[in-house]
Amino acid sequence: MKDLNDLVRANIQALKPYSSARDECKLQAVAFLDANENPYNAPCNRYPDPLQWALKGRLSALKGVDAGCIFLGNGSDEAIDLVFRIFCEPKADNVVAIEPTYGMYEVCAAVNEVEYRRVRLDDGFQFRAADILRASDGHTKVVFLCSPNNPTGNCLSPAEMEELLEKFDGMVVLDEAYADFSPSASFLPRLSRYPNLVVLQTFSKAWGCAGIRLGMAFASPSVIAYFNKIKYPYNVNSLTQEKALAMLEHAGQVDEWVGILIAERKRVMERFSGLPCCVKVYPTDANFFLAKVQDAGRTYDYLAAHGVIVRNRSKVALCGGCLRITVGTPAENDLLINVLKEMA
Ligand code: PMP
Repeated sequence: MKDLNDLVRANIQALKPYSSARDECKLQAVAFLDANENPYNAPCNRYPDPLQWALKGRLSALKGVDAGCIFLGNGSDEAIDLVFRIFCEPKADNVVAIEPTYGMYEVCAAVNEVEYRRVRLDDGFQFRAADILRASDGHTKVVFLCSPNNPTGNCLSPAEMEELLEKFDGMVVLDEAYADFSPSASFLPRLSRYPNLVVLQTFSKAWGCAGIRLGMAFASPSVIAYFNKIKYPYNVNSLTQEKALAMLEHAGQVDEWVGILIAERKRVMERFSGLPCCVKVYPTDANFFLAKVQDAGRTYDYLAAHGVIVRNRSKVALCGGCLRITVGTPAENDLLINVLKEMA
């Protein structure tokens, strides 16, 4: 890996971050007269902990990662955008990503005026480190991987990911949004071995908390320090921090949901593959599956007309004719199958 000083944009290195009075005051305060808050309407009247230490303490224990290696954001989408703003000089640097993958990497690249290079997966939806390295050059600051990948659902090869982490001299962002549904091991235990690794996870999927907007980035303390340096001061609101702390008291509930969803995934995929409209159902390690159907546009419209919303991915590379279908409750899954059975 290059020296962090050669990877981080010069303006971000030089930046003097915003500092709130509460960051500066280490004593136990008895009167908060620093932040122009209203003294009434507790507890919502107070700004939240800017660095979310209570939450990070709990997550540290759960994930086996030091609290200083954790960044929390307004969804993992915030962390994706911050990666661009920390590392990528607009109009000069580039990033490389597998294709197809989650669309926000490309959107954030465009917002930040950073060239986005795509490396097509093979027919088994796998990538090769060598292909990524070939697509990169001296201005490639970040590579984006996603495992299990969205929209294909499969895990990427751990051996290829390790080879990339070893040979690529910039940052590697590994998005594990769907890892809770997969038997493959997370790369979190490899954080200390690879200083260029950033792992993304989220409360939006297995944790059932898409509405509270809470994403996690795990990386070396020096990389996390840059996230903290440029983030909005109070990027995770107090209701979100509170709800996440409450959820962490019920981690067993999450395991139960994951078990149910994995069983439902198997059941609905089996039933889907028996439908007349189905051409192929692809294997998946996520809480969704990709299915090739005879006419994706017509099937999508037909389902929507019956109140069943899926994602039409047929215009996406390698996904011609495909719908991406989230695993729902047994009743929702039955509705999907029964409606499609009736399709003429
Ligand atoms: N990464 C992947 C691969 C996703 O599919 C999504 C959302 N669909 C996200 C990140 C965004 O997650 P969050 O809700 O934490 O912003």
